[in-house]
Amino acid sequence: MLDKLTDPALVRRWGGEIPVRHRYTPGLAGEAFFTALRDRGVLLGSRCEACEYIYVPCRLFCERCFAELTADTEVGPGGTLESFAIGYVDVEGEPLDEPVTVGLVMPDGADAVLFHFIVEQGEEPLEIGMRVEVVLRPPGERTASILDIVGFQPAAG
Ligand SMILES: [Zn+2]
Repeated sequence: MLDKLTDPALVRRWGGEIPVRHRYTPGLAGEAFFTALRDRGVLLGSRCEACEYIYVPCRLFCERCFAELTADTEVGPGGTLESFAIGYVDVEGEPLDEPVTVGLVMPDGADAVLFHFIVEQGEEPLEIGMRVEVVLRPPGERTASILDIVGFQPAAG
């Protein structure tokens, strides 16, 4: 009874499926972030004066001290690659035609990271700490979506 199982396939189990659907509104701050992204092509954050912390995307309230914040601080377009992962299979475990790289980028001037695709990597391997810059869709193709950002690419030079 207290034997340790080392093979998860040996655990007694039953299968099932849980369908999950959701609708999540961006809220006032999210709306400001996406509108600024679409109309001005900028990454909008919020600065908490008390905490000396700059959030991105912008926030209505500071998550540390609950101060009311405004969406008035532009960050990026350059940034630092804080972490990344390369995916070779999809969520079903099927091989992807091309590997997909995602990463956490801290835009210049921000204290928080954005999660997005890492694109146009070229031949040089990615490194944590390397400089990257945001790649946006052309102005006429933006829809106030997180996908108005194509991703982040290694910075030139
Ligand atoms: Zn604060």
